[in-house]
Amino acid sequence: MAFEGLSSRLQNVFSKLKGKGKVSEEDVNDAMREVRLALLEADVNFKVVKEFISKVKEKAIGQEVMKSFTPAMVVIDIVNKELTELMGGAQSKLAKSNRPPTVILMVGLQGAGKTTASGKLAKLLQKQNHKPMLVAADIYRPAAIKQLQTLGEQLKVPVFALGDQVSPVEIAKQGIEQAKQEHHDYVIIDTAGRLQIDESLMEELKQIKDAVQPDEVLLVVDAMIGQEAVNVAESFHHQLELSGIVLTKLDGDTRGGAAISVKAVTGCPIKFAGMGEKLDALEPFHPERMASRILG
Ligand code: GDP
Repeated sequence: MAFEGLSSRLQNVFSKLKGKGKVSEEDVNDAMREVRLALLEADVNFKVVKEFISKVKEKAIGQEVMKSFTPAMVVIDIVNKELTELMGGAQSKLAKSNRPPTVILMVGLQGAGKTTASGKLAKLLQKQNHKPMLVAADIYRPAAIKQLQTLGEQLKVPVFALGDQVSPVEIAKQGIEQAKQEHHDYVIIDTAGRLQIDESLMEELKQIKDAVQPDEVLLVVDAMIGQEAVNVAESFHHQLELSGIVLTKLDGDTRGGAAISVKAVTGCPIKFAGMGEKLDALEPFHPERMASRILG
């Protein structure tokens, strides 16, 4: 499970702190030095770690904390709150258009879990009594259309497809038209990925975005690639102005750095977390719960 190494290191640091009756400024400094190392080892962005530590110190090394009967608990509480803030503070919810259907554009690199996430999101919406439709606009990866159709069959969610000879822009536009006619309230458009970011990929995604004016542009990114996930998010955000991130494979043994730093670096909130290969393994991302989980 993600964060295991980080969690156990932080728990160690804090149990040492709790073992002390009084907590001196030096104790806080020592603890923060260890927290800093733990975060860096978990692959959290260097600048993010620096700012985080200085914010926590600023709050923790105050008269109030030192005077408290349980200073260690106060320090832990400060870390918890700052970690929550770092990951976005309040939960960032999926948009809902006043004029349905709400259009969600799924973007990302190949293998990140985009097609799976599209299916998972459809399932989540279905459970909330919405009527989603999927659109197969990845015409390049062989079998991507079929993969989405198979997911659609499992979920009993219609999949709009026009084969691989029609442009993705046209597929997306016609898909939304069909969704309107059939009164779907959400349209999830699965787009093509590449192994790496390249101009033609971005150009095509921009064209689709311009043509359909989506309510959400969600980047699906693999948490297992650590800091690289943050770099990928920065590039996509720069080009496409993302509205949110779906961080996948958090069930794997990722060290967690991407989850902790991507919001701080890009300004773009994580909206969902992928927790497995199955279709029900997608969870709305709650920064507070994630912080508590990390701190154990
Ligand atoms: P795409 O190329 O971005 O559309 O990627 P796919 O949706 O085809 O997913 C690539 C692989 O990652 C597949 O084997 C998925 O089962 C797997 N995958 C996707 N999301 C998750 C996740 O949250 N956890 C795990 N463990 N595997 C995932």
